[in-house]
Amino acid sequence: MAETAKILSPGKTVLIPDLGSGCPLAAMITAAQLRDLKEQHPGIPVISYVNTSAGVKAESDVCCTSSNLLKVADSFDSDTIIFTPDKHLANYLRSRTDKEIIAWNGYCPTHVRILPEHILRQKRLHPKAKVLVHPECRLDVIELADEVMSTGAMVRRTKTSSASEFVIGTETGLIHRLRKEGSGKRFYPASELAVCPNMKRITPHKVLSSLKGMQHEVRVPDPISRGARKAIDRMLELA
Ligand code: SF4
Repeated sequence: MAETAKILSPGKTVLIPDLGSGCPLAAMITAAQLRDLKEQHPGIPVISYVNTSAGVKAESDVCCTSSNLLKVADSFDSDTIIFTPDKHLANYLRSRTDKEIIAWNGYCPTHVRILPEHILRQKRLHPKAKVLVHPECRLDVIELADEVMSTGAMVRRTKTSSASEFVIGTETGLIHRLRKEGSGKRFYPASELAVCPNMKRITPHKVLSSLKGMQHEVRVPDPISRGARKAIDRMLELA
């Protein structure tokens, strides 16, 4: 995400407060691995989730987010698509489209900790709660949910919904924001295990010391930045 910020604002300084806070899902595919996959399937368009490195984006035709992946996939005439890196997002896409999806075998280690039995338990404990889950979850979890959506959409839905209780199937940190903005509504994590240790490495203290010392500046080499920018711009045009 820091690389994406730098690619979109090349003239600005982008700092990452902790170099160990990279996304494990993004690390599951490299640009070289994607080049190999493209060689095995020549001419097939490549969609990469935003949680990928700049190098992988530069090898992709377009990026997508969890809220626009269906729209992005539908924008291609091709009936086959390569999707990286998350196999669960790819499964979700498969369940919503007739296209054949060639998926990379990556996954978010945090979202896969949410299991069907966790959702069933929360439904038993909170029968009136609406269950909202992120499409990085397993398909058998998604099938138990009332709605599937991005984290941004969850924030909006919980504000506009007439429901007053929600089970939230994504990284548990979102619960904090929902409780802050949720005007007295109640929020329950689908699973207390859905904690991303990498995200938790970014602390207020580290943000402050990063700003004070101007550490660690994110740089993306020009050719990679230009290639990745094309994939991001195409997504923004479609969105
Ligand atoms: S929860 Fe963590 S591992 Fe999963 S996509 Fe987000 S940053 Fe990556």
